[in-house]
Amino acid sequence: MNILVVNAGSSSLKYQLIEMNNEKALAKGTCERIGQLISQLKATGKDGKSFVVEKPIPDHNVAVQLMLEALVHEEYGVVKDINEIQAVGHRVVHSAEDFNSSVLIDDEVLEICRKNSDLAPLHVPANIIGILACKEAMPNTPMAAVFDTAFHSTIPPYAYIYALPYQAYEEWRIRKYGFHGTSHKYVSQEAAKYLNKDIKDLKIITCHLGNGSSITAVKNGKSVDTSMGFTPLEGLVMGTRCGDIDPAVIEFIMEKTNWTISQTMDYLNKKSGVLGISGVSSDFRDLIKAVYEGNKRAELALDVFCYRIKKYIGAYAAVMNGVDIIVFTAGIGEHNPEVRERVLKGLDYLGLELNNELNYNVERGKLTDLSGPNSKVKILLIPTNEELVIARETQALIKNN
Ligand code: AMP
Repeated sequence: MNILVVNAGSSSLKYQLIEMNNEKALAKGTCERIGQLISQLKATGKDGKSFVVEKPIPDHNVAVQLMLEALVHEEYGVVKDINEIQAVGHRVVHSAEDFNSSVLIDDEVLEICRKNSDLAPLHVPANIIGILACKEAMPNTPMAAVFDTAFHSTIPPYAYIYALPYQAYEEWRIRKYGFHGTSHKYVSQEAAKYLNKDIKDLKIITCHLGNGSSITAVKNGKSVDTSMGFTPLEGLVMGTRCGDIDPAVIEFIMEKTNWTISQTMDYLNKKSGVLGISGVSSDFRDLIKAVYEGNKRAELALDVFCYRIKKYIGAYAAVMNGVDIIVFTAGIGEHNPEVRERVLKGLDYLGLELNNELNYNVERGKLTDLSGPNSKVKILLIPTNEELVIARETQALIKNN
C-alpha cells in the first residue's frame, strides 16, 4: 500500500510517498514559496534521484498538481498512475478538544477544522487548503487528518488549565494544548520497542529539539504534560522563540517601544530565543561554531537553552514520580552532542549516566543508546519520523473502515 503524506503550510507544501509494506519513502519533496514570484519544487524520486522544478506556484492547487506530476513523471516518478496512491494522510496542526486521535476526513471534519482555525490561524487554514486541493485532484482517494495536538489530549486538567478565570477556558478555549504530538508519540513508542518493554510500564521524557522545541512527559504510553502550551510559543527556549517568560514583559515592551501587539508578538516569536540572546543565529550549527570560537553571548544562549531543558526534565521526573528513559530527537536533539552533554550534566541524582564518548561519535540517522554501563535511566537518541506516524495512522484508519 502506498500512502501519500502531505504537510501544507502557508507558503509551502511538503510530501512523502511511503510504501507501507517496508515503511520506506519512495519519493519526497517540497513546494517552496507558494504564492511568491519565484517558486519551486525540490524533490527526490526514482532511485533517490534529486530534481528541481522551477515554476510559478501561485496557489496550493498548483502545488498539488506539481507534486502529482512529479510522482508519476516518466523519468523520476515512482508510480505509473495516481490510482496507485491508496490514501493521503494530512498533517493538521490543531484539533482543539474535538479530536483525540486521527480521523478520516469528511465534510463534518473539515467544518470542525474551519471552526478551530482561530486557535492556529497561521497553520490550520493552510492545512485545510492543502486538503481541499488534494481532494479536488484525487476525489476518490480516502484522506485522513493527523493532528499535532491529539497525542496530548490525555494531559489531565490540572496540567492543562491556566490559572486564569475559568471563563477563559470555557468561552475562549484557552488552555495548554501542546504540539509535536506525532513526534513525541513516535519516539516514545520506538524507545519502548527498542527496550523490548511494554510502553504501559514506562515513564519516558521525550525531548524534541529542533527549530521549534518541546518536551513531553509520557507515562504508561500517554502524554501527561508537555512544554508547549496554548500556542507553540510556551516552554523551552527555541531558535527564535522565547519560550516561558513573565507575561508582564509584553506590556513593558509595548510601553517602551510604542509597538503594536503584533510587532511585539513578532519580537517574541521571530527575534528571540537563541538568536535573540546570541545575536549570532537561530541555527545551532552557527551557534555551536561561535561557541567554539569563544563568543560569550553564543555560550550564554547555549547555556540558557540547555538549562531550560534540564529544568523541564526535573519537573517531569517529579510529575511522573521517576523516569526510565530520556529521548533526544529532531535536528538539535539528534545532531548536537554539546546540547545533550550540557542538559544531562548534573542530573546524576536521577541515576543517569551518559556515555559521552559515544555521545560525540554517533552514527547519523540511527537509534543510539547513549546510556553509560551503570545508568539507571536509559538515554536514547532516536531520529524522529513524523511522516511515518502520519502514514501509519492513515493506514490504520482505512483498514478499520
Ligand atoms: P529541525 O527543526 O528538527 O529541522 O531542526 C533544526 C535545527 O537542528 C537547527 O538549529 C539546525 O542547526 C540543527 N541541526 C540540523 N542538522 C544539524 C547537524 N548536522 N549538526 C548540528 N545541528 C544540526
